[in-house]
Amino acid sequence: MTDLSALSPAPAGARDAVLKFYFGPMDCGKSTLALQMNYNHARQGRRGLVLTKHDRSGGPRVTSRIGLGRDAIEVEDDLDLVALVTSHDERIDYLICDEACFYTVAQIEQLADLVDEHGVDVYAFGLASDFRSVMFPAAQRLFELADEVCRLQVEVLCWCGRPGLLNARVVGGEMVRTGEQVVIGDTADAPVRYQVLCRRHHRAGQLGEGSGSESGSAA
Ligand SMILES: [Zn+2]
Repeated sequence: MTDLSALSPAPAGARDAVLKFYFGPMDCGKSTLALQMNYNHARQGRRGLVLTKHDRSGGPRVTSRIGLGRDAIEVEDDLDLVALVTSHDERIDYLICDEACFYTVAQIEQLADLVDEHGVDVYAFGLASDFRSVMFPAAQRLFELADEVCRLQVEVLCWCGRPGLLNARVVGGEMVRTGEQVVIGDTADAPVRYQVLCRRHHRAGQLGEGSGSESGSAA
């Protein structure tokens, strides 16, 4: 009510850096938004790094289903993200972290450290849950730590027309509910593909008519 500046030790004009997590099923436009976000920040003269893990291209790139792409740093399990940023020649203002659901929990902690200790804005993108509808550990930690969490819903629909919320893993035409949490699919000759379903049909295990290979097309 009185002197607001007394509430904050931050110097005048400064703002706290933020940790934001954007989540949604595959095909909802996460990588597209990640690339757009990077473009917007870079255009303002801010310096950022683009990170990814297990991109659909199979390489250290962020690629979107609609054809955009950009080189990126592959986040291996032993990569220390704080060291990555602080050892950089120039000051880094922000990070774009695509496929953050596949990072380690320790790396999510490092992202929070970068926000709080180094003033780096972190924009993370990824799936919330796996093919069983169980949360990825990294996504769970992001839910716990993020300043802001946003569900992306870019009209990705189940075959029934309801909003697509969950990813199903399909092996040999059948939906499976057991197996490794991370299996890369949707590539040229992978035996595994993923299909977005509404909650009702994910729980019922119904893939719908003609559930051939719609989403498995080359990225
Ligand atoms: Zn459905």
